[in-house]
Amino acid sequence: MNLRSATIAELRAFLDRGDISAVELTDYYLDRIDRFDKSLNTYITRTADTARASAIAADKVIAQGKATSLTGIPIAEKDLFCIEGTRTTAGSKMLANFKAPYTATVSTKLANAGAITLGKTNMDEFAMGSSNENSYFGPVRNPWDLNRVPGGSSGGSAAAVAAGLCAASTGTDTGGSIRQPAALCGLTGLKPTYGRISRWGMIAFASSLDQAGPMTRSAEDAAIMLEHMAGHDPQDSTALAEPVPAYTSALNNDIKGLRIGVCQAFFDTDLDAEVAAKTREALRVLESLGAKLIDIALPHMAYSLGAYYVIAPAECSANLARFDGIRYGYRCENPEDLQDLYTRSRGEGFGQEVKKRILVGTFALSAGYYDAFYGRAQRVRRLIKQDFVEAFNQVDVIVGPTTPTPAFGIGAKAESGVDMYLQDIFTISASLAGVPAMSIPAGLVADLPIGLQLIGNYLDEATLLNLAHQFQQATDWHTLIAPEAP
Ligand code: GLN
Repeated sequence: MNLRSATIAELRAFLDRGDISAVELTDYYLDRIDRFDKSLNTYITRTADTARASAIAADKVIAQGKATSLTGIPIAEKDLFCIEGTRTTAGSKMLANFKAPYTATVSTKLANAGAITLGKTNMDEFAMGSSNENSYFGPVRNPWDLNRVPGGSSGGSAAAVAAGLCAASTGTDTGGSIRQPAALCGLTGLKPTYGRISRWGMIAFASSLDQAGPMTRSAEDAAIMLEHMAGHDPQDSTALAEPVPAYTSALNNDIKGLRIGVCQAFFDTDLDAEVAAKTREALRVLESLGAKLIDIALPHMAYSLGAYYVIAPAECSANLARFDGIRYGYRCENPEDLQDLYTRSRGEGFGQEVKKRILVGTFALSAGYYDAFYGRAQRVRRLIKQDFVEAFNQVDVIVGPTTPTPAFGIGAKAESGVDMYLQDIFTISASLAGVPAMSIPAGLVADLPIGLQLIGNYLDEATLLNLAHQFQQATDWHTLIAPEAP
């Protein structure tokens, strides 16, 4: 019984056979968090007491033979999901002492399925970033190399799974924040179709882009998690009223004849030569499994970064207006008057990157500039979406790299905002279009994991998971384990 590398599916078998109890499994992870998280900094808040209580309840359910696929499985939640009575910080000083008064729908669903929450994971402040260096609670370290970033903004969720500090985790992806850290930490990460999972109780960054998803050790685990996370929610009018397929039953479908789109533009951009070689190698594996490779064009992809960095800041400037020092979170000491209270609470409570985006977004939405920036960015977004609609007339899935390089050093891109933004060059277009996309491990470059990105048609997560699972049956990149932290 190798717990360190175990997937949810393997842990399920251990628990059902009685090889280990949910209480023992929970203690195993809590002990590892105690031992290793000082060097990794993946958790902002640990919820050991409630975790043990849920584990006792889970053991009873298992003993009655009523376990779901998640009963007794210890997971971690990105600290962007509200959990009632639990500190929920969004990685910000603004919410450093905020206790959520209610629980996010997705967290309720996971808890109802019997999953055990070990704690809340570190993240870039309000999910803005690609390296987890923008957290008020300090950077997260990549378990594969402690001097490198784990990616962001769901860096704590990624590093915690990669380091064996939980079995799986939740993340959120606005422009790549599940896929990019999954790639850099050697995990499987899925951003579903926009609206597939409820956003209720998930602190908003850019509402037309934000989407929750699972971060796991395998595609099978991602399917298990998604089955419990997805579905309509009357509390979120953008949560799609579509039935949730049994993703786990479609994993073994034959992929013979599956049409895979390959977009040359992904390879013409600043892509590390070794990452490109690994991506091509993965495409050959898919071909050997019977998939057909077809060249496609996504002519407007080059404009995705520009459109995103107008739309996301614009929406964040509106969403973050609620943090005014009165209704939620941080309030400055001894304000002189109301204006001083607003200005200093926001000035002291938000970090640099968040302030930069609020400024850019407020400007882009201001009278006289709205059409030139926000309106134009929305038109570009429509063209990008149209590119995908046309591509999916010819192919079933689009496959390419997730990131231009493996994990970079902590501090290496801190100087230039644009260098950091370029991390998301391959992930952002799927977010703008709202289509589902995932990243799966595709090999090592200089001993660091890299990801293969699979982009699917609207609501077709099942085909992505099936393709990913078949790839993982034929390769063992996803089974590689990061070295143990000191
Ligand atoms: N890295 C991107 C950004 O900084 C995406 C973040 C995300 O998906 N939450 O906005």
